[in-house]
Amino acid sequence: MNIHEYQAKEIFKRYNVPTPSGYVAFSVEEAVENAKKLGGSIWVVKAQIHAGGRGLGGGVKLARSLDEVKTLAHEILGMTLVTHQTGPAGKLVQKVYIEEGADIADELYLGIVLDRAREMPVIMASREGGMEIEKVAATSPEKIIKVAVDPFIGFQAFHGRELAYGLGLEKEEISSFIKFAAALYKVYMENDAEMIEINPLVKTKSGAFIALDGKMGFDDNALFRHPEIEAMRDESEENPIEREASGYGLSYVKLDGNVGCMVNGAGLAMGTMDTINYVGGNPANFLDVGGGANAQTVAKGFEIILKDPNVKSIFVNIFGGIVRCDRIANGILEATKLVDVHVPVIVRLDGTNAKEAAEILKNANIKNIITASDLNDGAIKAVAAAKGN
Ligand code: ADP
Ligand code: MG
Repeated sequence: MNIHEYQAKEIFKRYNVPTPSGYVAFSVEEAVENAKKLGGSIWVVKAQIHAGGRGLGGGVKLARSLDEVKTLAHEILGMTLVTHQTGPAGKLVQKVYIEEGADIADELYLGIVLDRAREMPVIMASREGGMEIEKVAATSPEKIIKVAVDPFIGFQAFHGRELAYGLGLEKEEISSFIKFAAALYKVYMENDAEMIEINPLVKTKSGAFIALDGKMGFDDNALFRHPEIEAMRDESEENPIEREASGYGLSYVKLDGNVGCMVNGAGLAMGTMDTINYVGGNPANFLDVGGGANAQTVAKGFEIILKDPNVKSIFVNIFGGIVRCDRIANGILEATKLVDVHVPVIVRLDGTNAKEAAEILKNANIKNIITASDLNDGAIKAVAAAKGN
C-alpha cells in the first residue's frame, strides 16, 4: 500500500525526520487558510497523487503571495496530472499540500528499499537528487551509493559515514546527516515499510538536511499491525477492480494484454503469464485464486477478469493438489451459470483427478469451453482464441 506525501511527512515528523511544515487542503479556500496558518511569504502548492514526477508535470508550484496560492490551488485541484509514473491517462488531483518554501542549497537523494536477494534493507543515496533520479540510475549507476543494513545489528554510525563520504559531504555536515539517516531507518523498520524515497533531500543554506519530498510504500501483509497506517489508505488512488478482488481474498493485478488468466498459486500464475508471452500473447492480468479454489472463488474470478473490456479469452490453469480437479471442473460449470462468460475459456486442469475433470468438461459440452492438455497447449489455444482464431 502506498500513501501520499503529506501522510509520509506526518510519519517523518513523529520520528524527528526534519521536513517543512505544511497542511493538506481539499479546496481552494482551505489552501489559502493553510498558507495563512503557515505564515511566511513563500509557499509551495503540491498536488497529492500516488505518483512521482509531479514537478515536471506541473503539479508542484511556488507561490509568492496568498493570491498566488489561490490561483495555483485553483489550477492544480481538479487537474488531471500526467507524469512519467501515472501513464498517459494521468491522475485526478483531489487534494493539495500547502508547504512552506525552503531555501535550497543542494538537492540530494536518499531512499531505503528492501533488497530481496540480500535479504536486507538497502539505503541508497546520491548527490544527483531532484527530478531525474531514474535517468541517473540508468546512465550513471555509480553515482548512487548503496549500503545494506543487516537488520540484526541495525543502522550504525559506520553505515551513515559510508553514505556521507560517498556523497562527499563536508566534515561538519556528517553528524547531522547520520542522525537523519538513522531516524529514517527507524521509520522504515518500525512501520514495516517496503520503500521510502526522499527526493530531494535538501541541504538548506543554513546547512540543515530536510526531507522536501516523501514517498512511502508498505508491506500489505504487515498492515494488520499498523492500524494507523491502514487508516491512511486512499481508495480513490487504487484500481477499483484490484480493490474488489482483494475484498474476496483474490490477488489480482491488471495488466495491458487481452488473455485473462485464472490460476491457483502465485508461482503458477507467473509461469502462466510467462508462457502466454512466450507463445506470442499478452496476459490481461495476474490472478491468483488461492489454494482453496472452489465454485464461488472461480465465479468471482470470472466476474473480476471480465470487468476488463480488453479480455478476449480466459485461460484457466489450475493445479489440483489439495483441491481436486473434478471439483474445480464442476466449479467452472457452476460459475458459467452464475456469470455471463461471453469469451472462450481455455481450461487446463492437472493433478489429482484430472481425468475425471476432463470427462466432466467434455460431457457438459459447453461451446465456449475448450480443454487443453498441458500448459503450452493451453497458452497457444488461449492466445489464438484472443486473436479470434
Ligand atoms: P515530485 O518528485 O513529484 O516532482 P517534489 O516534492 O520532489 O515532487 O517537488 C518537485 C521539486 O519542487 C523539488 O525537486 C523542489 O525543487 C521543489 N520543491 C518541492 N517542495 C518544495 C518546498 N517546500 N520549497 C521549495 N521547493 C520545493
Ligand atoms: Mg520528488
